[in-house]
Amino acid sequence: MSRRVRGPARWVGMLVAAACAVAIPATAQEGHEALPAPSPAAFDTLFSTIDAQPRDHADTRARMPEFTRLRALVPPGDESRLLRVDALQCGVGLYEDAARVGVEAQALVERARRRDDGYALSRAYYCLGNARSAQHDERTSIADYTQGIEAARRAGLVVLHGEGLALRAATLSAIGEHAVALIDLTEAQREYERTGETTHAERNLLGLAVAYRRMGEFDAALDHLVRAEHAARRRSDLETTYTTLLQQGYLLFDRGAYPESIGPLRQALAIAERQRDPGNVAYALAALAASEVRIGNHTQALASVERAQARLGSEAHGGGVDMLVHLRRGEALAGLGRHHEAVAEFDGVMAELGDSDNPRYITMLHRARAVSLEAVGRHADAFDGYRRVLAAQTELDALARAQQEVLMRHRFDIERHELEHRRLAADRTLRDQQLAAQHRARHWRSVTLVASVVLVLLLAVLGLRQVRRGRTLQTLAMTDPLTGVANRRSLERFAALAIADCRSPPRPLSVLALDVDHFKRINDRYGHATGDAVLREVAAACRRELRQADLLGRTGGEEFVAVLPGIGREAARGVAERLRAAVAGLDFGDTALGLTITASLGVAEQCAQDTDFRTVVQRADRALYRAKRRGRDRVECDADDDDGGASARPMPPAPATPIGASAAAT
Ligand code: GH3
Ligand code: MG
Ligand code: MG
Repeated sequence: MSRRVRGPARWVGMLVAAACAVAIPATAQEGHEALPAPSPAAFDTLFSTIDAQPRDHADTRARMPEFTRLRALVPPGDESRLLRVDALQCGVGLYEDAARVGVEAQALVERARRRDDGYALSRAYYCLGNARSAQHDERTSIADYTQGIEAARRAGLVVLHGEGLALRAATLSAIGEHAVALIDLTEAQREYERTGETTHAERNLLGLAVAYRRMGEFDAALDHLVRAEHAARRRSDLETTYTTLLQQGYLLFDRGAYPESIGPLRQALAIAERQRDPGNVAYALAALAASEVRIGNHTQALASVERAQARLGSEAHGGGVDMLVHLRRGEALAGLGRHHEAVAEFDGVMAELGDSDNPRYITMLHRARAVSLEAVGRHADAFDGYRRVLAAQTELDALARAQQEVLMRHRFDIERHELEHRRLAADRTLRDQQLAAQHRARHWRSVTLVASVVLVLLLAVLGLRQVRRGRTLQTLAMTDPLTGVANRRSLERFAALAIADCRSPPRPLSVLALDVDHFKRINDRYGHATGDAVLREVAAACRRELRQADLLGRTGGEEFVAVLPGIGREAARGVAERLRAAVAGLDFGDTALGLTITASLGVAEQCAQDTDFRTVVQRADRALYRAKRRGRDRVECDADDDDGGASARPMPPAPATPIGASAAAT
């Protein structure tokens, strides 16, 4: 092993295995493809495509051809787009010269800050974090990642945010902070799922599974591995399928389920063989060898190890695969009783491991080495080894406990937070419900108020209408519907009141009786409708001639009676004359050509003998009959009553031509 890769690259290398070791595509070496002309639109499209692809590796060298094309599309002087390409590309040569990449990343951070570009700032910080991590400065790198994560979060870039969380998780995990790493990955997963980033969520499952395994949460780990495997198979992602299978093998091994671990490891091996990836083949064989040793199949284990070594060849492989193969070889040899050779293997691994801070590997190594040392009689060294195993194991246990505590505290915090959140939500719901109830009550109050007002108005309208109808009915009950003057009943009532009124102080009161002459003929010649019109005109003409204090009423077919309070006989005669003249002067030229009419009138004044209205009317009637008898179209007075009871006699037959022109018309 010529070079040891540390930081996230090492974590990725050792535990996500060589799955992420992307081979440089052929196009990278070719590169003589014609470059496109600058175009902002084409740049943006290609940029989105490149950025959407997963970044499996901190060293971006493999994707240089894409970056070169993208760079060619940057319009001259377009600093913003140039900054984005630089930020995307940052990381080339990370494992050769991390310091240089660090300086470049720092400069990018400054540029991104000046342009206030959240995307570039986030990427620049991730690149800086990768550089620091590659220089064994994990603590600073975690701070860089944190800055990048914050920048992505501020810019609302979910995928970039998740990428940062995964990067930070890897570094945290590398320094044994497995709990915080798990928390980071869980957060990334939550964000991916919340925003529907299914592909990223699926890709994150594997990291989550590893984090769970490291926290000793084997069930959760296995569950995530199986889900990750299915997702990878679905999208024909052999690399990830391989890794999920390898991890399942590791997991079952860690749980002591050695025979069960063989199945997934063999599947992983088959995929690696199909992919002709020596690194992956070696990892799978080393894992198989470890399980075979545990189930006592040492010969098979040695064969697996030798097969792995053959595949690896003499070339050095990064990511600790050589070290693993040597460790397993030592274990297999020890199992076969070949302890001297085993010790030699272990010593080689120990030299390689040096001051490694991975207590898990150290423990595994020292335990196996101590057994072999004891077997070859090197008791003091064996004792020293056991001591180191014990110390490493104690350290591991303490670390595991500390991590569990961190995780438990975090989960407790989350639960408390969620509880608080739920309580607040419940409070809010309650408050909302109360407000809604108040609102509803207020609403119904106003509805009730409006309804009451409407009801009151309605009742008022109905009441008014009722009053009006009552009045109309009353009017109808009191008036003659054809002419609109008083009917007999109201005439009698009015007359009774007027007579009483004229008694004290004593005042005169006269009554006129009017009868249209030869009305029957009008009906006969002009029709009943004209007859009606004549009656209406006669009533109207009479009303025009009477005072406000007088009352006209229709007492029969073509008979009218007028009550004149305060009017003596002679004055009443004058009024009757006026009425007669008015009727005679009526012009029906519009409705009945040539029609003229006359009326006869009788006048009576109330006197001391009169007991009621009827006797006055009877005298007026008698005078009327006299007027008929004396030729019609005239006025007669009760005082002129000289025929004594003659009025009771039947009316004389009508003269031949009572209706001037109309008679001529017949
Ligand atoms: P005279 O000069 O003697 O009073 O003769 P006359 O034809 O007016 O009297 P008579 O009593 O013989 O006839 C009255 C007619 O009035 C008979 C009836 O058909 C008619 N009449 C009664 N009421 C109405 C009514 O409301 N409308 C109309 N068009 N005709 C009516
Ligand atoms: Mg009559
Ligand atoms: Mg008549």
